[in-house]
Order: sequence, then structure tokens, then C-alpha cells
Amino acid sequence: MGNDLIQIANARPPGGAPLELPAGEGLAPSATGIGLGAKTFYIETFGCQMNVHDSEKVAGVLMARGYRPVDSHQAADIILYNTCSIREKAAQKVFSRLGAFRKGSAGAGKIIGVLGCVAQQEGERFFERTPQVSLVCGSASYTQLPELLGQLEAGNRRVTGLSLDTEDCFETELTRRDNLHRAYLTIIEGCDQRCAFCVVPATRGPERSRSGAKIVADCQRLVDGGYTEIQLLGQIVNAWRDPQPAGWSFAELLARVAEIPGLRRLRFTTSHPRYFTSEIVAAIDSHPVLCNQIHLPVQSGSTPVLARMRRGHTREEYLEKINCIRGSQRAISLSTDIIVGFCGESERDFEETLSLLAQVEYDQVFAFKFSPRPNTDGLGFQDTIPEEEKSRRLTALLELQRQIQLRRNQALLGQVMEVLVEGYQPRLGQAVGRTTTNRVLNFPGEPADIGCYMKVQVTAVGPNSLVGSRVLEQGDGALECSGGLTGGQYGS
Ligand code: SF4
Repeated sequence: MGNDLIQIANARPPGGAPLELPAGEGLAPSATGIGLGAKTFYIETFGCQMNVHDSEKVAGVLMARGYRPVDSHQAADIILYNTCSIREKAAQKVFSRLGAFRKGSAGAGKIIGVLGCVAQQEGERFFERTPQVSLVCGSASYTQLPELLGQLEAGNRRVTGLSLDTEDCFETELTRRDNLHRAYLTIIEGCDQRCAFCVVPATRGPERSRSGAKIVADCQRLVDGGYTEIQLLGQIVNAWRDPQPAGWSFAELLARVAEIPGLRRLRFTTSHPRYFTSEIVAAIDSHPVLCNQIHLPVQSGSTPVLARMRRGHTREEYLEKINCIRGSQRAISLSTDIIVGFCGESERDFEETLSLLAQVEYDQVFAFKFSPRPNTDGLGFQDTIPEEEKSRRLTALLELQRQIQLRRNQALLGQVMEVLVEGYQPRLGQAVGRTTTNRVLNFPGEPADIGCYMKVQVTAVGPNSLVGSRVLEQGDGALECSGGLTGGQYGS
């Protein structure tokens, strides 16, 4: 790539520009006077909550250097795409976005960077395919971002951060938080499982757990800052093990966080069946703060397909975990991920998946057609199922699930539920609430309801959401409301 390419491949940079920003302090970016002062940035994020949270941290790094966030790439000096390569379509989107910045066009004079899974996967090839790009940084290397940005500010044209060998999780002095009520917190990075279809081990690197004490301290700080809901994140969140001498299990960590006074809701995602223990269900039973919701991906209902996928569990072992969850004292809502048309999936295998859906009765299913991804073992398998057949199976599965969801939601008619109001739809005059089971429950409300916990009675249902009306109770005048850090959206 020549002299204008700088590869930062070491662990945490010695000159990582530590910024003396007090934890939790809302900092007006225009007032920082650090770095490039008035320069602006725009980030577009694809993919999962981990990516969304990574973008919040990247935004924090940029703001700490004096960049100011803007709402459009046209208004930005630096444009970043935080990419996802879990499906082929998601990966293609970023190349289509970058196409808009071909020579002499909208990208002139701007810094264009690619972050996340596609960045890790493509690496320096990005510079050949899309010369308008000057920063390529994989999600395992975000600790290097301050140094990479420094190199760009110093006049280097191309920089990369592609090491998977980072010991630290991505910790920033300042995180811009885009949701005022729910705070995300990454507790484990990477994955060691190597499922045959999944890019995560290649793009996010090996598993690294954060220390339990640090996680509890961060959660305490978030609660002190006004957040009432926290979601603990990891690609394989329940594989978390405390690396510190305390040696807490994941269930113990959940209990410790749930005991923080002032926290109203605690969620965690994404769990892996192999690491799902009865202690997690016991923690949910004993701590009302833990939400009635578990996302437990199964991917297929057929044991032979699960073996080819290298999932590390059979259909029967998965169903044992489900039985354990269904044995909880609380009505825990279940969701899952399914891949249809994986290599060699027979009609009988597919029917096994349909029968699993009928047996478990999930409240939500995220289903996709298999597409072979780079750097996965599945790429070497024969992709035997024609595209039209994959589409047929996906349609059949979604239709079955639609009926299940509708039936399960109909059983909720008349029930009163507590929601956290997360938004407001002015056109409909409706507040958008979320239940502890992660269902959306809309009801007539007003913008000022956002951030408040309210009781709502379910009056109508569809397969994907509920409609209701607010129930006024004695003492409702003093509703508890949630709100991120005083004075702005920025928290540590
Ligand atoms: S456990 Fe999850 S993140 Fe890890 S390889 Fe399998 S699907 Fe990917």
C-alpha cells in the first residue's frame, strides 16, 4: 500500500490520547477545544445492538477529540460506516453507500472510514476497491481509534486497525448514548465457538470478559446518571466469566447488577444454549429487576443440521433449557434466531424446525435464509438448497410464527402491564411503550410521557405489537421517570 498506509497492529496504543474527561459528565462538544474543534462527523450503523453500542463509543471518542455529531453525511467532515457482515445483504449495503463517494463527488475533502465486521473482513482490500476510504478499523481494534484518528489528523492518507489480538474490551472515557433511558454495556467481546455459518469469531476475535467489579461500577454510574434500564451485551453474553479473583458466574453478575438501587430493568443478550444454566433462571426468579425476557438462538430444530452447524447442542439439549425456563415462577418471554436452508437441510430437517417453533411457542423469531460468509467453515460446505426453496421455507416458517405470535398476544387482552415509554408517534398521537417481555405496547399519550413507567391495559393485539389504554392509579401523579445524564445525551 506504500508509505501512506499505517497499520496499527499492536495492543492498546501507548499514546492512546487519554482524555481527562470525568466519568458521566455531559460535555458540550463545541466547548471541548480538543483536536479539530469545529469538525463534524456522521456515523451510520448496520447490524446488531453490539454495533449500535460500538457506534456510541466511537461517537464518544470523536467528541472527546472535538468533533461534533451531525445528522447527515452531507454536513460531515468525517463519515463513518459501522458495518455488519453477518448476512451478505448487510455487507453489500456498505459498498453501495461508499459508491456515492466515488472520485470528484460528494466525498471530496472528507474523511471516509469503515468500521466493524466488513472492515475486519476486507481489511486493506478496501483501499483498492474503494479508494475514497481512508480509515479501516475492525471491531476488535476500537481501542486504537484515538491513535488512528491522530494519524489522519497528522496528514496520513490511509490507516488501518485490524488486530484481533487486543486484550482490552473497548473502553472509552466518554460514550455518547443515543438512548436516554436504556443504556447498553458490553461485558464480553468476541466468541470462541466457531459455528460454521458465523463471521463473529473472525471479525471480533476471541472471547474477552470484562471484570465483574468494573461492570458493576459502570452500571452504578449509569444508574446515578439517570438510566433505569441497562442491557448487558455480548455475542455470547452468558459465556461471561469474571476474569478477576472474585470469579463470579454470569448468574452472580446478574444478581449483583440487579441489586443496584434505582435500577428498574435489566436485560442481557445474546445467550448461547450451551452456557444457559438453571442459575440464570433462579436469578430471574429472585430479582424482579431482571426482565421477563430471554433471547436464546437455536438456529435449527434438527439435530443433524445443528451438528453440521457446529452449534455444540442437540435439539433435545436445547429443549431441556427451554423446559428449565418454562419452569420459572415468572412468565418469561422467549425469542430465537433461525437459519433456513443451511447446507444439506432436508425437507424433514426443515419440518423439525417448524415442529420446534410449534412446541416452544416463541414470542418473537428472527429468521434468515442461509448465505455462505467469508472466513467461516460453512463456506467450504456445498450450498445445496436452491434460492427459491430457501425463500419458500422462510415464508412458511414466518407464517407459522405469525399465527403463534397472534395467538399468544390474544391471550394478553385485558391484562394490565407496566411499560417504559420509549417514543411518541405524533401522527397517531400514540406513546410507544415497551413491556418487561420486550413487547411494544402503543397507547394514546403525549411526548412528555417518554421516559416514564406507566400501567397500560391491553385492548387490541396484532402479531407484532399490542395496543392499550393507560390505567390511572392512585399516586400516579408522581410517576417514576427515567432520563439519561443530566444536561445531555452523553454518559460514560
Ligand atoms: S456462538 Fe454465536 S457469535 Fe459465536 S460463532 Fe456461534 S453464532 Fe457466532
